[in-house]
Amino acid sequence: MWGSQPDAEPPPAPEAHRESDSERMLRTLLGNLRGVAYRCFNQPHYPLLYASPGVLELTGYGPEDFTASHVFWRELIHPEDVRQVWETIQVALASRTAFTLTYRIHTRTGEERWVCERGVGIGESPEGVAILEGFITDITAFKRAEQRQGFLSSVSETLASSLDYEDTLAHVVQRAVPVLGEGCLLDMAEPEGVLRRLAVAHVDPARAELAWELARSYPQRLDDPAGAGAVIRTGRTELQQQLSEEQFVQYARDARHLELLRGTRVTSMLTVPLRARGRTLGALTFFHCHPERRYGPEDQLLAEDMARRAALAMDNARLYREAQLAVQLRDEFLSVASHELKTPLTPLHLKLTALSRDLPRCGSGDAHSEALQRHVMVAQRQVHKMSTLINALLDVSRLSRGKLKLEPENTDLGDVLSEVTAWFSSEAARVGSELHVEAEAHVTGWWDRLRLEQVVSNLISNAIRYGAGQPIHARVEAEGDRVRLVVRDEGIGISPEAQERIFGKFERAVSERHSGGLGLGLYITRSIVEAMGGTIRVDSRPSEGSTFTVELPRGADGSRGAQG
Ligand code: ADP
Repeated sequence: MWGSQPDAEPPPAPEAHRESDSERMLRTLLGNLRGVAYRCFNQPHYPLLYASPGVLELTGYGPEDFTASHVFWRELIHPEDVRQVWETIQVALASRTAFTLTYRIHTRTGEERWVCERGVGIGESPEGVAILEGFITDITAFKRAEQRQGFLSSVSETLASSLDYEDTLAHVVQRAVPVLGEGCLLDMAEPEGVLRRLAVAHVDPARAELAWELARSYPQRLDDPAGAGAVIRTGRTELQQQLSEEQFVQYARDARHLELLRGTRVTSMLTVPLRARGRTLGALTFFHCHPERRYGPEDQLLAEDMARRAALAMDNARLYREAQLAVQLRDEFLSVASHELKTPLTPLHLKLTALSRDLPRCGSGDAHSEALQRHVMVAQRQVHKMSTLINALLDVSRLSRGKLKLEPENTDLGDVLSEVTAWFSSEAARVGSELHVEAEAHVTGWWDRLRLEQVVSNLISNAIRYGAGQPIHARVEAEGDRVRLVVRDEGIGISPEAQERIFGKFERAVSERHSGGLGLGLYITRSIVEAMGGTIRVDSRPSEGSTFTVELPRGADGSRGAQG
């Protein structure tokens, strides 16, 4: 009843009235608009009194289909959106404001489109029904792009959530349905040339089971002429816009296979390779089961983008696993090697000590025995150096097994510093660095003395090695229940990029050729300091020097010792 208004063109001019320029302009404008200018009654079926010609392109129905009453706008609106449309318009009319709506409609061919409608109430008909005027635009492309972008970012988010790629990919396959079709399969290439089905998603669980059954009974192979096998072999996407019965017959290996294939009711199929860093790892297959739905180039781009992301995530997970394994093997090797290297060092050290003790007795004073004595001293120094390096390796393997055991006792940090600087005095003199030590009295705490010596030794020896022959200042001070050790040099310094890194395992900030360290000293130092509940930090500028600061809590008996 409401659709019977015969107003397909802009309101006709009165008989006597010739079309003015502005009226002609308006008509041209309305006739060429991409979108629909409309006038309708505020009735649940939205009968149109006028629709501009653009309505044909948007809906597949011409203006007269609406105005001659047999099509109502309401019939086009997606059932889930009808209520929202009605309510928004009623609120806007009651408050006399304009309204803006986005909702879905179905075109004459059943295609779904998104529209944006802006309208306003313009008055009432003689029967007292409100009349609306407005404009409707097609925003389907924008909505699809938005949905696809949202879909891809949710895929990326899922992929980034874990390194267990089999599990993650199964989630991604679930997400692809129904965005990219009624079903999705993930098949991986196995070394024997067969494909392994890793995940299946389908809107219909019975058909998901059918997809598993097909993979079990008729596994795809890399030498298949079509399908996932061929896609993995060639690395190229396969798009079957419309699958025919002949294709099923051609593809089927026997009568039962054909029956299962038919049971899938697949009508259109898209298979994309999972390719990363030049290797195809598997294939994702998407399919529609409705004859009117077909994959096109836009779907192909989206599916390929998704597959690229998935493949990269898989490859990253593989590289990460390989790197972890390599690190594990390295640690195991170092643990075994350092134990094996340590074993002959102890008797070697004992023999050299005995030799240096016995040498003066046989032929003291002669030049030959003095030369021998010097050789033995050099050998002792080298053995000491080697045992320091091997001990560092042993410490690292202990640390990686979480076996750093501390044996705390009442210890004076000032004493430890004086002792350690005394050990290093000749070394410092050799490179031309003066060692300045400043220590408050009774800076005591409950610490493992040997480990604390190790901390101080590492910092002082680094200051000597990287101190460029400039003075070195070491200071110990207390502040409440914490104590501080500061070691400052004026040497080569450390670039900002390397300052955090150097506390890592095997990390060095200088080139391989520069002094023969293993890059373990600071790693062990930080591990010890943190095991004691303290912190270590560095403040440095290249070419100006470095200051390392260790802060430690005094521990259980420390504060008492300090007072006493
Ligand atoms: P290394 O045995 O290589 O010295 P460390 O763990 O003790 O191992 O130190 C790691 C790296 O930090 C060193 O290779 C060096 O590049 C840098 N570094 C440590 N201390 C200093 C310092 N006082 N001045 C400049 N660079 C330093």
